[in-house]
Amino acid sequence: MGKDSSDLFGPLDSKPASLRAVPVMVPLPAPTAYSYAVPEGMAVQPGSVVQVPLGPRQVIGVVWDEATADPVDPKKLRPLTLVFDCPPLSPDMRTFLDWVASYTLSPPGYVARMALRAPAALEPEPMVEGLRYCGVRPERVTPARQKVLELAEDGLAWTRSGLAHAAGVSLSVVDGLIAQGTFETVFLPPPPIVALPDPEYRPPALEVAQKEAADELFEAVEAGGFSVSLIDGVTGSGKTEVYFEAIAETLRKGKQVLILLPEIALTADFLERFQDRFGSKPGEWHSDLSSRMREKVWRQATTGEIRVVAGARSALFLPFDNLGLIIVDEEHDPAFKQEDRVFYNARDMAVVRARISDIPVVLASATPSVESQVNCLQGRYRRIHLPTRFAGAALPDLHLVDMRRHPPERGGFLSPVMLRGMKKTLERGEQSLLFLNRRGYAPLTLCRVCGHRFQCPQCSSWLVEHRFRGQIQCHQCGYSEPTPNACPECGTLDHLVACGPGVERIAEEVEKHFPDARTLVLSSDLGGVKRLRLEFEAVAKGEADIVIGTQLVAKGHNFPLMTLVGIIDADIGLSNGDPRAAERTFQLLSQVTGRAGRSGRKSHGLVQTFQPQHPVMQALVSGDAAAFYEREIAERERALLPPFGRLASIIVSADNRAEAETHARQLRQAAPVTDGISIMGPAEAPLALIRGRHRFRLLVHGRRGSDMQAFLRQMAINGPKERKTIQVQVDVDPQSFL
Ligand code: ADP
Ligand code: ZN
Repeated sequence: MGKDSSDLFGPLDSKPASLRAVPVMVPLPAPTAYSYAVPEGMAVQPGSVVQVPLGPRQVIGVVWDEATADPVDPKKLRPLTLVFDCPPLSPDMRTFLDWVASYTLSPPGYVARMALRAPAALEPEPMVEGLRYCGVRPERVTPARQKVLELAEDGLAWTRSGLAHAAGVSLSVVDGLIAQGTFETVFLPPPPIVALPDPEYRPPALEVAQKEAADELFEAVEAGGFSVSLIDGVTGSGKTEVYFEAIAETLRKGKQVLILLPEIALTADFLERFQDRFGSKPGEWHSDLSSRMREKVWRQATTGEIRVVAGARSALFLPFDNLGLIIVDEEHDPAFKQEDRVFYNARDMAVVRARISDIPVVLASATPSVESQVNCLQGRYRRIHLPTRFAGAALPDLHLVDMRRHPPERGGFLSPVMLRGMKKTLERGEQSLLFLNRRGYAPLTLCRVCGHRFQCPQCSSWLVEHRFRGQIQCHQCGYSEPTPNACPECGTLDHLVACGPGVERIAEEVEKHFPDARTLVLSSDLGGVKRLRLEFEAVAKGEADIVIGTQLVAKGHNFPLMTLVGIIDADIGLSNGDPRAAERTFQLLSQVTGRAGRSGRKSHGLVQTFQPQHPVMQALVSGDAAAFYEREIAERERALLPPFGRLASIIVSADNRAEAETHARQLRQAAPVTDGISIMGPAEAPLALIRGRHRFRLLVHGRRGSDMQAFLRQMAINGPKERKTIQVQVDVDPQSFL
């Protein structure tokens, strides 16, 4: 099965073949690879993807680099079952996977498995049946048959439908010729799922600032080798157009490109723009693809047939054949962080992958992360600045609405100032967007008689009413029940009240004030990706007057008629205990208000807040991002917070509260004494209960340059024995503090 190659350490070398052992990374939480015997006649090399027995099962693994640890007698080992016919993982890729495992303190087998996420793609795709003219002319040559023959006469192979289509005839004409013996059957390799992108297809006319930016990136690609560039450009400045030029140059060099996007499933827009520029779409990679499609993309990325992949964070683990450039768009976005099994930030790991492969990486954002800003200031990243919007479009004119001075009417959430703005926008035939980052109708339901609050039976979170569905739901675990009529505590009927707003409740208020307007709620719980894509298109075409949305609407979409953006509650994220709260709020609000006025119409943003003096609000309306970052950076530096210090969070959870707490305490006692590293906790996590598991948190803080990983590893080694009932999650560089 295995392909031949010169550096095999299989049966070709002098030692008896059956005596070879190789380390194989298997999908287990083990700290190292397992050893297997290579059966006689099987050719493997480091990186080969193999199937191996593991207990009673067969699993997929990767042959790793020669083990240095204690050699085992191969006779005592179980043999490899088979080698897949796919390109071996490159040395770069293996180094990268090892690096991620060691940095995130994850089992290397789990990390390696992330590179093999399409098991059926490990074997080549089956050939497809085709036709070739074999010189036999049919008895009767009709005009339709003549067209087919003219095309086929050169003797090249065609698919049945491809030939009919090219000749402009129906399939039955081709079938008729097959019946006459005009064609012989041949087998063709399956067609690539996307055509080759053409770097010269439709280059844009760049503006001066764009041209300068593109030239800088071009140089980075030309020079080759590792470099990081940050495109820091206001919303609508044309960052995409600029980095497309770096992609074009990489394609000219015959290399592959990876574009990471935070919400690929929702950026149909992006794929189209790519097609306009390069004449074909990129390969897509995200969780919403069918498994068949994932397999094809995986396979064709490994063989090099697909030149450009645009994908969500997990695309970073695709084993590309010849990667030449990585783009991370919206690099500040929290969606790049995975908080499940292997905890990693795809933005940071993209930089690592680029460094290991010695290729350039481009980060882009209108509101770069503080981390990337500091890297620019310290000269590690090249900063490319685009200060104005494309084609002279103005940024929206932003105003704070002080909710203490302009309160909404009783039971409402929209200030009269907001309502006036919406009314004017409607009258001009333009669109408004109201942003509230809360799904459902109301975040809390309580009984007016006894004060009972509806809480999830398995989590420490309130149940959120979803009125469209007639349910109350837990946003932590998905638990739901029909919205009750009576209070379960005191039994009183019809005295339940909804507290606070969700998007559904805002829609109700909007409909009351503007009964004739076309109102649309955009929220991830109201339909799948397909439906959302259609709805975004409808909004872009002007088929809604007032759009009410969660953070889904913050990203990447171009709505030409959108001239008013209203923020319902700008203060939501400011006080949640997250050291990045101010940064996050600034980024989110800038992104959302940046949806307005992208086609050059005069546009406005209204920001409802109870804290108009807060630095985030002031930075937002003054448009002085630089001042905000300067202040934020100074504050982080003073408090030794990232990137001036390092953090890791450890969550210990168990069904039994005391057990979780004891384990967390023992873990803390096991911590080595290390200069510059300190531990806070254990304390009950803010989300003390999720899915019936009690959670305790330790927060580890290290000064810059301290070896956090060594510290955490030592803690695990000295710590209490692992137990089935206890789960310990380590999150290096955490983004979540709940
Ligand atoms: P950003 O990503 O910086 O928010 P975009 O790349 O989405 O900005 O650009 C904003 C809009 O301006 C898009 O519709 C884009 O097609 C258009 N645009 C930007 N630069 C050019 C250009 N040089 N030629 C034509 N259209 C451009
Ligand atoms: Zn729950």
